[in-house]
Amino acid sequence: MVSMETIVSLCKRRGFIFPSSEIYGGFGGFWDYGPLGVELKRNVREAWWQAVVRERDDVVGFDASIIMHPKVWVASGHVAGFIEPLVDCKVCKKRFRADQLESQVCPECGGELTEARWFNTMFKTYVGPVEEEAAVAYLRPETAQGIFANYKNVQTTTRRKLPFGIAQVGKSFRNEITPGNFTFRSREFEQMEIEYFVKPGTDAEWHERWVQDRYAWYKRYGIKPENLRLRAHSQDELAHYAKACYDVEYRFPFGWSELEGIANRTDFDLRQHQETSGEDLTYYDEETGDHYLPFVVEPSAGVDRSALAFIVDAYDEEPDKEGTRVVLRFHPDIAPIKVAVLPLSRKESLVAKAREVWAAIRPYFATSYDDAQSIGRRYRRQDEVGTPLCVTVDFESLEDQAVTIRERDSMQQVRVPIADLVPALAEKLGRRCLS
Ligand code: ATP
Repeated sequence: MVSMETIVSLCKRRGFIFPSSEIYGGFGGFWDYGPLGVELKRNVREAWWQAVVRERDDVVGFDASIIMHPKVWVASGHVAGFIEPLVDCKVCKKRFRADQLESQVCPECGGELTEARWFNTMFKTYVGPVEEEAAVAYLRPETAQGIFANYKNVQTTTRRKLPFGIAQVGKSFRNEITPGNFTFRSREFEQMEIEYFVKPGTDAEWHERWVQDRYAWYKRYGIKPENLRLRAHSQDELAHYAKACYDVEYRFPFGWSELEGIANRTDFDLRQHQETSGEDLTYYDEETGDHYLPFVVEPSAGVDRSALAFIVDAYDEEPDKEGTRVVLRFHPDIAPIKVAVLPLSRKESLVAKAREVWAAIRPYFATSYDDAQSIGRRYRRQDEVGTPLCVTVDFESLEDQAVTIRERDSMQQVRVPIADLVPALAEKLGRRCLS
């Protein structure tokens, strides 16, 4: 299996992911996405939105503000309960989460540790010009509460009947005590969350369906089944709000770790918000004439963790005549760049033709253009960032108005008239339509 050092170094070298504020030495738990990383993340979000909103008839989209009324976090239980036990090493001053330590001494230097104290991992900020208690607010530690607080707004404006879901993608912030494993545990990250509202009593069945749907999504976008597993939470591991929970886990180089949690949150959140806000959040069931709080199934995934899993899973090395060919075998929908245009040489007439071809395909695909060094080197560069198709413009192209499409995985090449290039590329990429 590929090592994390190899992945981190590839990500840095090719412009997927950089340490945040690197010119100042980086900033623990924060990461910046470069030109390829930003495309990759967009594709992850897009693939998720496609599956959970566009292709379904029972889920609508939503986008809440990051900073919400502070009472939201009192109602949700985060002010009182979003806490972790923190210990300091008296010798090297490093900090650790007490529940993650295997022994009573510092894992770095063997030094004595302080008593554990509880630390709330929400980031605090101040809203308004005066730094007083009344204006304390939090950067959201999950996107879910924005949905719960708006449940009534969305339900009444869309006139949805149960069951229905609300989906949201956005940044969340947690002051993690021990960020690490590259982007896996960051302090600023992005979540993709669905709150799916159901009639109480049907929750267990919907929970099971969402677990299967979400597991299938990772396979649909190319994650190898042997690197994916479902793990049910044991009773003592369940969060205070959850009746049951499954994690979708990925086999990272640092071990099996959570990509997504799918929890049955019962009516905990709506009940808390109803009590704290004093607003009636019950649902009127026209069939039975009853008012009740819906139960909620929550599939909660991470954009950054998914992106990292897609990179790790796509990584492949194979021997070739120059040594080793490194390939990211991304699913075409996930690949940051779909098509690279490569003129065989930098001769003026060829470059003009290649630029013309590039301009013709740019409106339809994420593309790049490369005319530096030998064609073999350029193919390898595209393989290393997972570009599924290269279009080579050669001297014959000037005569026959045709170009060569080279496939990343099979390395096979086919000649295609420039006039047919867009549909030919679309077909190879498995595109449903070109809009
Ligand atoms: P963990 O146990 O790994 O801390 P969690 O169970 O607290 O995660 P949830 O609160 O269930 O995580 O969050 C849902 C999803 O949000 C996770 O499955 C993950 O994909 C993402 N996520 C949570 N915390 C982080 C983080 N610090 N960095 C990156 N992604 C995160």
